[in-house]
Amino acid sequence: MLEVKDLHVTVEGSEILKGLTLTINAGEVHAIMGPNGAGKSTLSAVIAGKDGYEVTQGSITFEGQDVLEMEIEERARAGLLLGFQYPVEIPGVKNIYLLKAALNAKREAEGLGEIPAPEFMKLIKEKVASMKMDTSFLQRAVNEGFSGGEKKRNEILQMLVLEPRLAMLDEIDSGLDIDAMKVVADGVNSLRAEDRAILLVTHYQRLLDYIVPDRVHVLVDGRIVKSGDAALALELESRGYDWVQEESAA
Ligand code: ADP
Ligand code: MG
Ligand code: MG
Repeated sequence: MLEVKDLHVTVEGSEILKGLTLTINAGEVHAIMGPNGAGKSTLSAVIAGKDGYEVTQGSITFEGQDVLEMEIEERARAGLLLGFQYPVEIPGVKNIYLLKAALNAKREAEGLGEIPAPEFMKLIKEKVASMKMDTSFLQRAVNEGFSGGEKKRNEILQMLVLEPRLAMLDEIDSGLDIDAMKVVADGVNSLRAEDRAILLVTHYQRLLDYIVPDRVHVLVDGRIVKSGDAALALELESRGYDWVQEESAA
């Protein structure tokens, strides 16, 4: 589904990704782990098409399409969706309007019409309930006065409503207490589907107790230096990242 090959990315003149290669198949959940500053967020941002990243070498393809040739909106329409690590506040814009606008943009790209209001309300109520959120949440301005946990839930809510093909979640666990993390993890698990892949960026293993990945990749200094199954995450938890770095340098 997604193929990243020998990706080199420069941010403000310094090379951050230094030949990163990664393949993600439909139906799989992949976790990208690694020390701070390794380039994890850069990877998901480049796939999503955020500004400020210069690809100097390599390729990204999504179902055979050249992602690097696509504008950020085209990528979103193709189903490449990145949640926000530190979601921004959008004063005055109600959450529910943003969700509906995003869903209708997606439906338009699929040749469907606008979602009928009753159908939308049914869908949104069901998803809000599944995230153990209160419906009053929908009437609040996007992220205005949201707690950290509410922002994270909102991020998963967006994913549940928009049903992306590749859902990229960056540090979805940061700042969450255990109960909120379980809700968020349940939401992510309910996103699992045969025709969808999930890319989880996480610094800590904790989240992976609840979302068991098919593959775990260790990103160090701009490259994936080791890949394995869920057991690798546990090994990283007990041994840290240094040994992987030493092993890969040897
Ligand atoms: P990670 O998510 O693994 O912690 P990032 O991808 O956020 O790492 O960052 C990788 C490196 O790129 C870091 O050294 C960081 O300081 C640098 N970097 C990231 N974004 C920018 C930016 N917008 N401007 C300058 N440097 C950046
Ligand atoms: Mg190279
Ligand atoms: Mg990061």
